[in-house]
Amino acid sequence: MSSEVGLVLAHLYPSLMNLYGDRGNIICLKQRCARRGVRLEVREIGISDDLSFKYDILFMGGGQDKEQKRAADDLQEKAVAIREAIESGVVALVVCGGYQLFGRYYQPAEGPRLEGIGVFDAWTVHQGSHVPRCIGNVVAEWEGKLLVGFENHGGRTYLGPGARPLAKVVSGHGNNSEDGSEGAVYRNAFGTYLHGSLLPKNPQFADHLLRLALERRHPGFELQALEDVLETQAHEAAVGMVRQRQGWLSRLLR
Ligand code: GLN
Repeated sequence: MSSEVGLVLAHLYPSLMNLYGDRGNIICLKQRCARRGVRLEVREIGISDDLSFKYDILFMGGGQDKEQKRAADDLQEKAVAIREAIESGVVALVVCGGYQLFGRYYQPAEGPRLEGIGVFDAWTVHQGSHVPRCIGNVVAEWEGKLLVGFENHGGRTYLGPGARPLAKVVSGHGNNSEDGSEGAVYRNAFGTYLHGSLLPKNPQFADHLLRLALERRHPGFELQALEDVLETQAHEAAVGMVRQRQGWLSRLLR
């Protein structure tokens, strides 16, 4: 029985950075662990809270520019520890505004540049309120499989040579609406623009994160597959919606 197998997840700024149901990612990971008898302890980390304990997974959701500013200042205090954790193989999932702050910087439409913590060799620029936001359903290809989600961001993220994209956009904007990239990966850290929340409708990606964390903390422990009937139905429905919209668009543009 795997009851002695446990993981610790540090949830950064849960009340500040929680747009479009990003907290659903935590609920999904808890459920997917519980169904295999793996204990997942979630520790919520707010502004000025201590992050000097051992954790296996780090999560940060999205937030509007105002909340991002508050989080950015505090994140700088935690930057060295987080970078060391990522270098040691800790798994991270950071979404949208959180993703932007794990890059080198985020330049909002107005106001000063927000320094990021440089986990990703990436930078984000919001080109101004006159530029349409990147909003809508997204389908992107990740390691031969599809990821589905919802995006809503003004910032455009560009990747440097030290970061590789998480996925290739099939439909939607992704990082910047220009180069077809979505998200970023560095070691076991994953940045993405996909809200939704992401993990419940992408069970294979959810288990990928759990397997990485378990391999690091409990080598040899095997995460059993789940049936994922409802998750797959939700995933397929999201893909179908985008395909239908693409059909309309192609007919419209004929
Ligand atoms: N404020 C950032 C932007 O608009 C991130 C938004 C978000 O987290 N959804 O790009």
